Amino acid sequence: MSRPTIELQQLTKIFRSGTSALTVLKEVDLAIESGESVAILGPSGSGKSTLLALIARLDRPTSGQVLLDGAPIQDRSESELALHRRHQIGFVFQSFQLLTNMTARENVRLPLELIEAPDPEKRAAELLALVGLEDRGHHYPAQLSGGEQQRVALARAFAAEPPILLADEPTGNLDRHTGSRILEVMVQLRQHFESTLVLVTHDTAVAQLADRRLYLIEGKLLDDEQSAKEMLGPVR
Ligand code: ADP
Ligand code: MG
Repeated sequence: MSRPTIELQQLTKIFRSGTSALTVLKEVDLAIESGESVAILGPSGSGKSTLLALIARLDRPTSGQVLLDGAPIQDRSESELALHRRHQIGFVFQSFQLLTNMTARENVRLPLELIEAPDPEKRAAELLALVGLEDRGHHYPAQLSGGEQQRVALARAFAAEPPILLADEPTGNLDRHTGSRILEVMVQLRQHFESTLVLVTHDTAVAQLADRRLYLIEGKLLDDEQSAKEMLGPVR
């Protein structure tokens, strides 16, 4: 599948409640090349998850737009958007977000069934093998460690071979050693499937694995670490 470029144009997101308004993103511009990996750094509450939700069109911007291959996604119907998410986007979250009443294998099988992939059962087993969990397919998430759950989540995220992977603090709930193992697996899968990666994190060490680092500070996306630090103090 072709890998679309991702463009954000003047993207603004304001959360309103009652009389108060919280401006999270202020006219953010960003262009991500096909196959590129970009890390977005920023402190907690800076709008990183919001940015990913807008890229996946899980939420709508207040103004501005997201373009895939130059075409605004706002022009697509809800059913087109659902197909887009299913086929084109893999998601990995800090909290794994596995379905707790399903085994590891069933969690990985689900996106394969949604895209009507051939032999989802066999493919799910292959994907679990790819993340080193070939013998844990029948275990439920509660029977797996955090690192193992995130491996399952990675197998699930890559199952439909999406051209875009969005990772939201994927190591945030893991100790450093386990986290770096997970990043290795993620990097290998990304190379294997040649996906574009947008990785959000508050951890500068995690961000090192990306081709490019950007800093989300006070609603603005900066590409210069020095000016980000001046606005913030060190980003940890
Ligand atoms: P990050 O992922 O960088 O920690 P988020 O994108 O989750 O930040 O949130 C950015 C800010 O927007 C936070 O102050 C958060 O409380 C606020 N926020 C996020 N989602 C909503 C929402 N649905 N309604 C109101 N405020 C929200
Ligand atoms: Mg977040």
